[in-house]
Amino acid sequence: MKELINKLRDIGTLTKEEYIVLIENRTPELSQYLFANARRIRELHYGTDVYIRGLIEFTNYCKNDCLYCGIRRSNMNAVRYRLDKKDILACCEAGYTLGFRTFVLQGGEDGYFTDDRITSIVSDIRRHFPDCAITLSIGEKSYASYKRFFDAGADRYLLRHETYNCEHYAKLHPTNLTAEARRQCLYDLKDIGYQVGTGFMVGSPYQTAEHLAEDMLFLEKLNPQMVGIGPFIPHHDTCFSRFPAGSSELTLFMLALIRLLLPKVLLPATTALGTAAPNGRELGILAGANVVMPNLSPVNVRKNYTLYDNKICMDAEAAECRSDLEKRMQAIGYQVVTARGDSLN
Ligand code: SAH
Repeated sequence: MKELINKLRDIGTLTKEEYIVLIENRTPELSQYLFANARRIRELHYGTDVYIRGLIEFTNYCKNDCLYCGIRRSNMNAVRYRLDKKDILACCEAGYTLGFRTFVLQGGEDGYFTDDRITSIVSDIRRHFPDCAITLSIGEKSYASYKRFFDAGADRYLLRHETYNCEHYAKLHPTNLTAEARRQCLYDLKDIGYQVGTGFMVGSPYQTAEHLAEDMLFLEKLNPQMVGIGPFIPHHDTCFSRFPAGSSELTLFMLALIRLLLPKVLLPATTALGTAAPNGRELGILAGANVVMPNLSPVNVRKNYTLYDNKICMDAEAAECRSDLEKRMQAIGYQVVTARGDSLN
């Protein structure tokens, strides 16, 4: 098994079958060997710096009905909210003071936020914070819309492909959403010039090792600047409420494989990973991740942005989140830095 890890590290590619063998035969010992390699590669390019991204969850209205997601349209129990431009700018202001130089605007696909509104929000942030990166994560849009946001000053876009395999994608989404359309969005974003982030859930319902292997091959092909992965965590008001959560152990293994596949990629230790295990984010960093994304959303709306159950950091103010993370990172020998943290990939 170690030969396969060495091959991925030294040649930067594996076959689908090799990924499957690795994933299915992983042991705690093999994982430790993999993590040590992933740390070494990450440190080669990024040292022990950890980049922070201020996450602003600005709307939980969504026209989509993804079967796993707590803010899906058909969840009548979700308490809906949206922030206005003034609220969003206030979040950025508070974040800037705390040392954030990247703002991530994430939300459901909310028809209220027309292209005009998004463009106006992006250009205001761009004007007020010229030294910051602006990241959007607002789902599938047309090429023309993505281009408008980019021209208004957005630098980066996060859109997880969720799963590469079309049949598996269809089991997680309603029929109007397809894996092909989602992937086309990623190619459009790249073509426009965004720094692109994609990714997938680990342990989502019906997922197999073969699906994960296909996700790795897709990452190799797309060669994105960022990859966000996290364990699937059931939400009580969705179709998948009774499915088991994905394991943090497998998520860490996949994180480290991604570090070896794309040595210079930006790799967050996600909130879902921190939810699945008490020190999940620290373990993520120790498996090769180099980004954390604390929440800058106002505390009074935060509990309503529940994609899954038991999400962490629901009541802490942004400042507390930031200092808590700083301590956690210091404790394992890493430091949170104030920088845009652009991808070297
Ligand atoms: N509407 C945006 C933002 C989606 S939320 C978009 O379409 O991209 C960000 C990510 O949360 C999703 O891409 C999905 O991978 C993840 N997510 C949603 N529900 C989840 C769940 N139950 N468990 C774990 N991750 C989940």
